[in-house]
Amino acid sequence: MPQNSTTPGGSAPMLGVLRPQIYRFRLGNFEVTQILDGFRVSPGPHPTFGQDQSAENVHNLLKANGLPATHFDHHFVPTLVNTGKELVLFDTGNGKGRIATAGNLRDLVQTAGYTPQQVDVVAITHGHPDHIGGLMHDGKPAYPNARIAFGEVEFDFWKKGQVREARKQNLQMFQEIAIPFEDKATFLKPEGEVVSGIRVVNAYGHSPGMLAFHVESDNQSLLIWGDVANHYVVSIQQPEWATGFDDVKDMAITTRKRILDMVATDKIAVAGFHMPFPSLGFVEKSGTSYRWVPASYQFNLS
Ligand SMILES: [Zn+2]
Repeated sequence: MPQNSTTPGGSAPMLGVLRPQIYRFRLGNFEVTQILDGFRVSPGPHPTFGQDQSAENVHNLLKANGLPATHFDHHFVPTLVNTGKELVLFDTGNGKGRIATAGNLRDLVQTAGYTPQQVDVVAITHGHPDHIGGLMHDGKPAYPNARIAFGEVEFDFWKKGQVREARKQNLQMFQEIAIPFEDKATFLKPEGEVVSGIRVVNAYGHSPGMLAFHVESDNQSLLIWGDVANHYVVSIQQPEWATGFDDVKDMAITTRKRILDMVATDKIAVAGFHMPFPSLGFVEKSGTSYRWVPASYQFNLS
């Protein structure tokens, strides 16, 4: 039968890419929600990743892993942990209006079933824009009842303001939206606690005072590693390659290797801010290096 405009079938519109944005799972007695603040498609990964390598080296690695060499998809994924006593948000995403394809965290916190007022603690891994950008919303604290917890070394670094040229704009942003929290904030040191069950881990290097967070409940562990590794192939299979985003490059490499070794040896699950959504997985040793193994259904069963 000939089709015309009133004939059903074959006329559904093309709707474009549809991305999952929220994933919640149990970790012991805690609930953990991964939220896609947004994404950015950028040219590269070379030279941002493998900055000290030839383009060919990096392209070959990508090709061997089935990835394109000319563009990459960079995800921004804050983590929300409900311990049953406190609701703790790790990083705040980009904030509204800075990147067209990001800044959705606060809306999605609500889609996930929480209100911004319910967030008790906001813990910041480091002071880069995609992590602090959502501290404010319409010029006011985005999570009005939350205690803000910064790394002490990280906060002091930005407060002193001795940043490299590429971080000048970032410094201005930190001064505008993070410094106003100073009087009411708390300051974290490695081996300290954010709340009971969540320990602070030294991850200095990507930013001078970056922190990771070790979450543990009922013998289950998760490392929220911030920006320890920012490309799931290049940074993990070649942790010694220099990265344009890393502020103290040698220290970032040393930290990356130490933390990759720790999570691989101890088989600790990882929530990685820039790993592909839901940014939850494991690191396995592979030859003399490592590889990222995304979680499948392990966390749906408990
Ligand atoms: Zn980042």
